[in-house]
Amino acid sequence: MSQNASKNAIHNLDRAIKNWLKKLQAKKPRKHKRQYGQKYQADNGKGTVKVCGNAVYLPKIQWVKMRECMRFEGEIVQATVTKTHGRWFVCLTVETGEEPPDKRDGETIGIDMGLKTLAVYSDGTTVENPKASMDHQYRKLRRVDKSISRSKKVHGKTNTSKRRQKKYDERQRIYGRIANIRDDVHHKATSALGSAKHVGRVIVESLNVAGLRRNKHLSRAFHRAGLSGFLRMLAYKCAWNGVVFEKADRWFASTKTCSDCGQKKVAMDLSEREYVCMDCGLVLDRDLNAARNLAQYGQYGQYDAASSAESQNGRGGFVSPARTEAEPTKRLLEPQQLSLAFAI
Ligand SMILES: [Zn+2]
Repeated sequence: MSQNASKNAIHNLDRAIKNWLKKLQAKKPRKHKRQYGQKYQADNGKGTVKVCGNAVYLPKIQWVKMRECMRFEGEIVQATVTKTHGRWFVCLTVETGEEPPDKRDGETIGIDMGLKTLAVYSDGTTVENPKASMDHQYRKLRRVDKSISRSKKVHGKTNTSKRRQKKYDERQRIYGRIANIRDDVHHKATSALGSAKHVGRVIVESLNVAGLRRNKHLSRAFHRAGLSGFLRMLAYKCAWNGVVFEKADRWFASTKTCSDCGQKKVAMDLSEREYVCMDCGLVLDRDLNAARNLAQYGQYGQYDAASSAESQNGRGGFVSPARTEAEPTKRLLEPQQLSLAFAI
């Protein structure tokens, strides 16, 4: 390993602890098991890692072939080698020197996130959840898991064998496959939206992640859909293209409001798939109605509506009043610095 591998690890831990103390990061850094997520920072500072065609030069290890060429021009600032799901990757941070793009004028798109349909845009586009192909992999995973469990039961937990190790590898591969299926859909959808010429602003709802996870009927489906990952990708791809990315207030009633006349319902059951307005007679798909509301977010007095009628939650309990301003979105990645993982 390169000279600074251990130093970089200590630097990273230092940064993590500082971030935690400054409350930039919610969780205290903890010690990771060596078995999973092996990685190290391969560079010895700027300019110590080189890329030529589809080969990368790592200190000590020397030239390693990559599966694809680097897609950006510029100086390599950092290189991190990781082993994920049984495959090796190098993540290169490149200083391209390009200015962040100018804000782009265009229409506002609201996005409603869901589990059955992953996302519905206010222009009517839908992104499907790749549930069928993922479920197929989850069934395979269950078989392997059972087999590992049986092996432990018969031969003892600590009495490992090559055969059991093969099962562990198989399990990692299936996890990788699941992640690839999900990320493929997410990347394609977010790239298409981020680079769409007519889009100038994207508004999404703030997901109550902790609340959804606690729901025993939905938590598994929610976990598998990976909605937070979708939003994370969308945020940085919008930043790359100069599209404004906004999160609506958590108490903004996107589902219960009529997107046509602004009339609000007191309650709306999850089984009601269509929004029927009693006031103006609008009949619209539930998710599309929500997406259109989000697209209109910030245009007129939704703050009043949010704070007055939403002061009671679904169970009738009191909830804290809504914040009066939309939460500014943290920029996840400086546009001039691009980090992408390349398979090696
Ligand atoms: Zn209406």
